[in-house]
Amino acid sequence: MFTQKLGIIGGGQLGLLLTQAAMSFPVQVSIYDPNPHCSAAHYTRHFSKGDFDDKERLIAFGSLQDAVIFETESVNAEALIELQEKGVRVISCPKALQWIKDKGCQKEKLKKARLPILDFRYISASEIKSYNDHFPIVQKWRKGGYDGYGVQIIKTKADLKKAKEVDSIFEEMAEIEKEISVILARNELGDIEFYPPVEMVFDPVANLIDYLIAPANLSLKKRRQILHISKEAAEKLKLVGLYAIEFFMDKKGKFYINEIAPRTHNSGHHTINGNITSQYEQQIRMALGLPLGSTKQIIPCLMLNLLADNTKGRTSYKGIEEAFAIPNVQYTLYGKEEVKPGRKMGHAIIMEKTIEKAIEKMNDVRKKLLITSHE
Ligand code: ADP
Repeated sequence: MFTQKLGIIGGGQLGLLLTQAAMSFPVQVSIYDPNPHCSAAHYTRHFSKGDFDDKERLIAFGSLQDAVIFETESVNAEALIELQEKGVRVISCPKALQWIKDKGCQKEKLKKARLPILDFRYISASEIKSYNDHFPIVQKWRKGGYDGYGVQIIKTKADLKKAKEVDSIFEEMAEIEKEISVILARNELGDIEFYPPVEMVFDPVANLIDYLIAPANLSLKKRRQILHISKEAAEKLKLVGLYAIEFFMDKKGKFYINEIAPRTHNSGHHTINGNITSQYEQQIRMALGLPLGSTKQIIPCLMLNLLADNTKGRTSYKGIEEAFAIPNVQYTLYGKEEVKPGRKMGHAIIMEKTIEKAIEKMNDVRKKLLITSHE
């Protein structure tokens, strides 16, 4: 193996952790991001400023690399397809990114592959306000949504006032018992490695993952079922790269694929601590054409998102000594210079023999650490 040039598109928290993982390999990392002060930019001399949708700049950046990986679906897929055609290794597959970016196309692909999804229909921007069929219904913008932004539960006709007039899908509302994510890696040879399913517990106010537990609390039968669906999805959709498949399990115990992310995922931060190969290392292995690493989990983990309080301004960490004194907790602070209400500023991985113990410890972290603005 020789030193390779690895381009990472997106220098946020995922880009930062990808950069950290890349340090174990003989690679030269370059970061591409619109913000020169993004989290990962501090760790490489090779930084390119550019918008995620700027096709020409992306091609110019990618042409200098042996391999390119990306941390966000916002990146222009056509640029990545062109780079792949020029011989740059792009992980995950840019053609998959292209249909994943549009939630309508994504649902259609899943439907055609006969994978389990909730019923949906397309509603164009001009049809939104006059919709008068089944309620409650979930509006999802076809493009541009992220982290719950772009998803709106419409309970009654009156709620349509709140609905933004953009091309959308209207999806059947699920009675969710659990939200589960399965991260998998599949290479060109068809080898697949699955990470054990993780359970995501949402904060309904911030509309973000609040904490997650790994492995998910599922019976052996349910675990087998969800991994079977994940395998079918990866093979039928010919996924190559690293993907997170997000599922809903409804009150009757039936699984539905909610969506697929063609990249490392927030629900896999704990794989750095808990698994033999982290999701970040896995993606870099693939970018370098190396065999997949073992995804075996060694210790149960709980991941807590560390959110800013309701203030705005320069970041200040309060209670940090007390929080760091709690044993068996590893913190990652993203180094964001500014806090905004509810902004994701870092995460904590709590490693305990049982999830119950980890939850107790999480409550202690919450009490002790405050991320707020400087007075
Ligand atoms: P994003 O891609 O922005 O993360 P999601 O599709 O994951 O959006 O939706 C965000 C959250 O909204 C989900 O995690 C879930 O809690 C809720 N949600 C989404 N779709 C449905 C649905 N069909 N029924 C019930 N709740 C839903």
